[in-house]
Amino acid sequence: MEFRYCPRCATELEMRPSEGPDPDRPACPNCNFVHYENPVPTVQAWIDRDGEFLALRRNQEPKKGEWNMPGGFIEQGESGPDAAGREVREETGLEVEVVESIGAFPSTYETGEDTQPILGLAYLCRISGGEEEISDESEEAKWFSLADFPEPAFADERRALAILRSRVQP
Ligand SMILES: [Zn+2]
Repeated sequence: MEFRYCPRCATELEMRPSEGPDPDRPACPNCNFVHYENPVPTVQAWIDRDGEFLALRRNQEPKKGEWNMPGGFIEQGESGPDAAGREVREETGLEVEVVESIGAFPSTYETGEDTQPILGLAYLCRISGGEEEISDESEEAKWFSLADFPEPAFADERRALAILRSRVQP
């Protein structure tokens, strides 16, 4: 979400130069509102089943028809691993436990004219229960080895894939 006008007083925002290493920020010359364009945290789950990982083909925009990981936006008050478990349950029917954090990577989620900056928390998971049954958010689910894994839709997922692949290189 990028504001052009102040959400408090509707004055047009102006770029305010940073006085330090932070980026310049849009600010209101009237009421001093500052628009912080911080990323929103998301989760992505890499579910390891004997060296294969589950990918979902997106059934909705953005990136409809492309492969991505089970995951989504973190809810208020939720931990990253809790969010990963919830999203996996909603989207795949599987119960997972988080084995480790792969990392946190920047990306963007584009909806219409808005570009939402996100920070994707990537988790390595293993199945602890449930039955695989995908939701309407996906048109297809498939298990891939890292070697055959399709190019994921989002930059943060591609970063995590590169890290997983680098671990198994000879
Ligand atoms: Zn204002």
